[in-house]
Amino acid sequence: MPCLAESIRQSDPSLQELLGAVENAPSLALMVLAAWRLARTLAVRVVEEVLAERAQQPTEWLTCPECGTRLQSKGFVWRHLMTLLGPISWQRRVGRCPHRCPIGCVAPLDDALGLRPHQRTSIELKQVACALAVFVPFETTAALLSRLHTLQVSPGAVWHWVQEAGQRAMDWLQGELDQLEAGQSPAEEPLDAQTAAQPLVIGADGVRVPFRPEAGKPNGRTVWREIKVAILARLGRRTTHAGQGVHRLEQRRLVAVLGDIDALRPRLWLEAVRQGVLSARLVAWISDGGRGFWTLYAARFADYATGILDFYHAAQNLWKGAAAWLDGRTKDARAWFVSARHRLRHGKADGVLADIAAALALDGLPASARDTLTNLYAYLEKHRDHLDYEKFKELGLPLGSGLVESACKWLIQHRFKGVGMRWSEEGFNHLLHLRLAWVNGRFDALFPLEPSPNL
Ligand SMILES: [Zn+2]
Repeated sequence: MPCLAESIRQSDPSLQELLGAVENAPSLALMVLAAWRLARTLAVRVVEEVLAERAQQPTEWLTCPECGTRLQSKGFVWRHLMTLLGPISWQRRVGRCPHRCPIGCVAPLDDALGLRPHQRTSIELKQVACALAVFVPFETTAALLSRLHTLQVSPGAVWHWVQEAGQRAMDWLQGELDQLEAGQSPAEEPLDAQTAAQPLVIGADGVRVPFRPEAGKPNGRTVWREIKVAILARLGRRTTHAGQGVHRLEQRRLVAVLGDIDALRPRLWLEAVRQGVLSARLVAWISDGGRGFWTLYAARFADYATGILDFYHAAQNLWKGAAAWLDGRTKDARAWFVSARHRLRHGKADGVLADIAAALALDGLPASARDTLTNLYAYLEKHRDHLDYEKFKELGLPLGSGLVESACKWLIQHRFKGVGMRWSEEGFNHLLHLRLAWVNGRFDALFPLEPSPNL
């Protein structure tokens, strides 16, 4: 006779019934599920017993903050809380000021347990729900909680917890931005020696997200707004199955903001300092031709980072130039494009610029071709320092912004652009900052499991 089952059999009828379901299960799958229900009920029972025992211990009453008199017990009062185990209830002493100062009821055991006065859900449940909501819609989160934890939680409750935690993340960030503004730089994140020796790659991109035209109203035409996303990562290497060495991003950190370049700038700099932009052996800034990002580079990063214009973007523009100048259908256009791209790739950007200058000097160039070539020349000349692809390759840096773009898209695309999704500014921001906390390894800090004076 198994002794654990025997002691349950001698306990109360509800546990006996749950044990019976385990014993009579016709298959292993049903046995496991029945045992799971028993385990949860047992766990609730244990937690409630321990709480009841703690509640019996003598209470140290503090003094009233209004009049300084020692508070007096008014007896035991029920407390109910939704937890990861399901609803739990216990009784504990509450006290009041004997002079009836308007300080409400005080429950010292609640404080000791890390509970706030009107808290109805325990933080470990919010943490699990928010972790799911980082990846899947609120309805799916509620459905998964029901399936995985046998918890009945509404999508609206999940939404509310996400707003709460997301706001906490935004408040923290704002505090850090205020400190940065006041001249206080953040500490660098500690790295092992190998990672610290790797180049730091920084890139930025814009992604559009559908918003509701007016907060709180479901109707009206969708408004698409741009999210600025930046990635900072250490550039490692890995070997593929075919034995080829390829880049791999490590220590990936993302920064994102619903706003313009000016809103991105301090956020990106804050994270850049934390990721070692001031101390890294080699820093690379990779971006396509988007002007705002290069303006940000020039203003903040040029002193620390090697700028790389996305090679594929540059090549695309070469083709536009070739097609306008030599007629896109001709062999000549194709031949010049191939040669120009090859020279650009191998550090001969000046030769390409000379070709274009020579073409512009020709008489009889059609006006539209002249415009296109003039723009191409200006574009390459402006980025002259960002075109030394041969050198970048020798330094082990990537030539394209593909790694950057896919990481940026992942952050937004995966969660914010589902079928029929439209966001409010607040709702978007809260979830975005929760998702950022997750990818940046700071999620658990938003859910302190131990009592803290800041709560
Ligand atoms: Zn008082």
